[in-house]
This record gives sequence, structure tokens and C-alpha cells, in this order.
Amino acid sequence: MKTYAITGSATGIGAEVKKRIAECGDKIITVDIKAADIIADLSTPEGREIAIEAIHKEAPDGLDGFIPCAGLGPQVPDTALVISVNYFGAKVLTEGLKALLVKKKGTVVMVVSNSASFPGLNPDLIKFMLEDNDEEAACKLVKTIDGATAYAASKQALTRWMRRQTPGWAGEGVRMNAIAPGATMTPLLQEGLEHPVFGEGIRSFTVPTGDFGTPEQIASVILFLLSEQASFCCGSVFFVDGGTDALLRPDEF
Ligand code: NAD
Repeated sequence: MKTYAITGSATGIGAEVKKRIAECGDKIITVDIKAADIIADLSTPEGREIAIEAIHKEAPDGLDGFIPCAGLGPQVPDTALVISVNYFGAKVLTEGLKALLVKKKGTVVMVVSNSASFPGLNPDLIKFMLEDNDEEAACKLVKTIDGATAYAASKQALTRWMRRQTPGWAGEGVRMNAIAPGATMTPLLQEGLEHPVFGEGIRSFTVPTGDFGTPEQIASVILFLLSEQASFCCGSVFFVDGGTDALLRPDEF
């Protein structure tokens, strides 16, 4: 039996991944602000500490995989929360669980977004996250920035952080990859669709394959990346978005 940990397991993509891992007969330790084994608010340093300590207690022999899936969407009015949960919550937990992942030569699958590749995102905001590790400065600056930019910047910084860690972590036996979903029908997207400003923008999004994605479609790729079948996938960013990224950036990859 393998042991995994996941954040953001209460609804949407995280809930589907949790279900699929449990169906395989493996142990899955769940962390969320609600309805989880470990209740923790990952927007705060205290909540992250609670989660890290509790996972260490639950999995003293190590982790075969970790999926930091908790995230908030661009429609959340407090853009600082988006930075704190999406970037610092995911990064700090991954760092805090490294020793457990090394023990079992485990795998990390970051859940980012196809918006992570958006060009021209606020460079200071990215720098405060990625270079300075300064949550206070990032959260102060982001209060003057719109939700779509804040969201994309949080996901770009997380993707770049993952890519920077990849060689070192691989040397210790831990593979890291990221999945970059496009619009996927979950409570997060539903909130966006109902938003007076973001709703119309999301509805006008072109998905070459037709419809929005489903949590099942995203979970399938996460499960693959966690598996031995993906043993040569390392530091990759998998766009799972029905072709939207290819449509918007045909010449970049
Ligand atoms: P969701 O809202 O269903 O799930 C998010 C989960 O995160 C929930 O269980 C929620 O309770 C948890 N969470 C939120 N704030 C938290 C906090 N402070 N502390 C702990 N847990 C917290 O949404 P989803 O669409 O399933 O999102 C999962 C991930 O996928 C997110 O990182 C999101 O950015 C990413 N994503 C989603 C889409 C999409 O269109 N749905 C697209 C790209 C990327």
C-alpha cells in the first residue's frame, strides 16, 4: 500500500484525485480548510505548520506522493489570499514534506493552470514570490492588482519554483511535475462563471475540443504522473486544457 498526501481535497479536482487513490487501496491523507483528515487554513503560516506536522505524524515512514491542489480562483475579492494559498501554501507545504518524499523516493504533482504561461505578468509580484520569498511584500503589492493577474502570477511563480527545484530534488530521488489545467467544471470555475465581471470572460474562452474539462479528466493525468509509468517525467508542465494553450501560443512550448 502506498501513502499519499493531498491538499484541497474537499471539492473539485482534489476530491476526484482523493477518490481515485482511495479506490486503488492506497492511503491518502487529506488536508483542507473543511471536510478533511487535517483541517488547516493554508493561507496562514500557522495553518501550513499544522498541516506539515500532522502529515509527518500520519506518515512517519514517508510519502509516495504529494499533490498540493488547494487553490483559489481569480474571482476571489481578496487577491492577497490567492497569493498566500496558491503560491505560499503549495510551496511551503512541499518544502515541509521533502524529507518524507525523499524517504520513499516519492513524486510531487503541482496543480498550476494554463494561465501560468500568460506573458507580461507583474514582474515585481513574481520577484517577491520567487526570488525574495517575501509573502508580506507580495500580498501588499497584489492588493493593487486585478484577480486574473494575481491568479496567473501565483501559478507562474509556482511553476517556475517547481522547475528550479527539479534537478536537485531528482538527485534525491523525488520527481516533480506540474499539471496546468484549463477551465474545468468545479466549484471554483462555477464561482467564476457566476461572477459579474469574470463570468462573461470565462464563457467566451475558446476550448478547441469543445467543452470545459472535468475533474475526472484532470485527475487521470495526475494519477499518471504519480505512477511508475511516468518515471521519466520530471520537471514537466502538462497542459491539460483541450487545446487552449496551443491555440493561444502555437509557437511557444
Ligand atoms: P475547488 O474550489 O473545487 O477546490 C479547491 C479546494 O481548495 C477546496 O477543497 C477548498 O476548500 C480548498 N481551499 C481553498 N482555500 C483553502 C485554504 N485557505 N486552506 C486549505 N484549503 C483551501 O477548485 P478546483 O477547480 O478543484 O481547484 C483545484 C486546483 O486546480 C486549484 O489549485 C486551482 O487553481 C487549479 N485549477 C483549476 C482550474 C479550473 O478551471 N477549475 C483551472 C486551472 C487550475
